[in-house]
Amino acid sequence: MTLQFHNTLTGEIDKFVPLVPKKVSIYTCGPTVYDYPHIGNWVAYIYWDTLVRTLMANDYEVTRVMNITDVGHLVSDADDGEDKLEKGARREGKTAWEVAEFYTEDFLKGMKSLGLIKPQFIAKATDYIPDQIKLVQKLKDKGYTYQIDDGIYFDTSKFPTYADFAHLDLDAQKAGARVEFNQQKRNASDFALWKFTPAGEKRDMEWDFEGKKGFPGWHIECSAIAMSILGETLDIHTGGIDHIPVHHTNEIAQSEAATGFIFSNYWLHNNHLKVNNTKISKSLGNGYTLKDIQEKGFSPLDFRMFVLQSNYRKEGNFTFENLQSAKNRLHNWRNIATLRHQIHDTLQSEEEKSKNDKTVSTLATSQAIVEALNNDLGTPEALKIIDDAFLNLSKASLANIDRPALVQLLETIDSTLGLQLIDSTPDISDEAKKILLIRKSARERKDWNKSDELRDELLGLDIVIRDTNQDTIWEYKS
Ligand code: AMP
Ligand code: ZN
Repeated sequence: MTLQFHNTLTGEIDKFVPLVPKKVSIYTCGPTVYDYPHIGNWVAYIYWDTLVRTLMANDYEVTRVMNITDVGHLVSDADDGEDKLEKGARREGKTAWEVAEFYTEDFLKGMKSLGLIKPQFIAKATDYIPDQIKLVQKLKDKGYTYQIDDGIYFDTSKFPTYADFAHLDLDAQKAGARVEFNQQKRNASDFALWKFTPAGEKRDMEWDFEGKKGFPGWHIECSAIAMSILGETLDIHTGGIDHIPVHHTNEIAQSEAATGFIFSNYWLHNNHLKVNNTKISKSLGNGYTLKDIQEKGFSPLDFRMFVLQSNYRKEGNFTFENLQSAKNRLHNWRNIATLRHQIHDTLQSEEEKSKNDKTVSTLATSQAIVEALNNDLGTPEALKIIDDAFLNLSKASLANIDRPALVQLLETIDSTLGLQLIDSTPDISDEAKKILLIRKSARERKDWNKSDELRDELLGLDIVIRDTNQDTIWEYKS
C-alpha cells in the first residue's frame, strides 16, 4: 500500500519515504493562545490528527511536536502591530501569562473533546526562548541578519531560494510595499527574528538579548522548537495554506540558512473553512467556537465527522445544514455499531462462515479504508467505503453478520478516523433487554397490542425498535 501525500515543496503527490525506516517526525504549527479557537482553526488540527492516525495504521512510530504560540505573534503578519497576547491581556484585564495559560488549557480541553491524539511534545514558545536566541545568534554569526531600530531582521536577499517555496514574485512585492512599511527594512520580504521592546514600554513577556529587553518574532519559535526536539531535518511539517507565503517561507529560510540542510522533506497544508461561503472573520461574527456549536445541539464528534467529509486540500464550507447531515451520518453509523451487541455469534467457526454464502463479512473493508487514507488522506473516499459496508450490514439478517469482522471494522474506523464508535455505543440496559424478550414472545403470540405497548415503553428509554423480516433490531433514538 503506497503512502503518498501532496507535498507543497514539490507541488506533486509524492510517495512518502521517511528519513529513518518506520519512524516519522512531524511538526504542526499550533494555536496562538489569545482567544478561543474558531471552527476553522479546529479543521487544521482534525486533519493533522488524521494524518498521524494514518501513519500509525501503517505501523509508523510517530514523534510529533506542536507548538503553542504564547508570545510574538503580532496582529499583522508583517511584523507590525501589537502582540496578540498582550492585546488579549488588555482586553481581559489579565497579564499575557494568564491569558496564555487560560487559552492553552481551553485548547487542550477542545483537543480532547474532538478526540485528537495529544502530540508527544506540546511546546510553548516561552519555554524555548534560549533555543530561539541561539538560533538568531547563529544566523547573525553567519551574516544573515541586520539590526534596525525595532529589532533584528533576516535579510531575505541573502537566501537565494527564498521565493521558491511559495512561488513568490518578490519584485511585485517590492513594488506593492505599502508606504508605511518599515522603511528601515532592506527588502519588503525581510522579517523580524527578534523585536525590541519599544522605548518607554513595559511588556509582560520580555527577555534580555543584545543588552536590551525584547521578544522573539513569530516565525523563529517554530524553527527553534522543531529543530531542538526533532533535529535539523523533519519528515513532515504541517499547517494551514495561509502559512505558505510568509510563515513557512520564513521558517524554511531561517532554518536552512542556519543549518545548511533541508528543513522538512514534506510540507502538507490544509485549505480553509468558510462559513456560508464567507471567509471566517471576527468582525462578521461567523467564527463559531466549539461551544457555539455545542449550544446548538451538536457534539464535537459531529463536527469531526463534518470535517472528514471533505478533503483537506479543498476549501470547506460550514453551514448548520451541513453539520446536521454529518450528525445524521454519525448517528446512523453508531446504530450499525450497536449491531455487535445484537449478534449472538451463530456462526462460530471460520468453516461455518465460509459455508454460509450469505455471510456479510467486512474484513476487507478495514484495508480499503487505510488504502483510501494512504492516498493523500482521502477521507471522503474512506467515508464512502464505510457507508457502503454499513448499508450491506443494515440489510443483512443478524444471523449472517460476521461479528468479529464487524468489531474489527469498528476498531479500524475508530483508530483511523477517531470517531469513537465503540466508546459511544454501549449495550442497552438489562431492563431494556427484558422488555425486548417479553415483546418477542408477545409477537410470537401475535399479541400486537402488547407488542406496541412495549415498543412505546422502549421509546421512553430512548430505544427505537426496527422489525425486519428476520430480526427485531434496537437503535438509539436520534
Ligand atoms: P492561529 O491560532 O491563528 O495561529 O491559527 C491556527 C491554525 O488554524 C493555523 O494552522 C491556521 O492556518 C489555521 N486556520 C486559520 N483559519 C482557518 C480556516 N478558516 N480554516 C482552516 N484553517 C484555518
Ligand atoms: Zn509555525
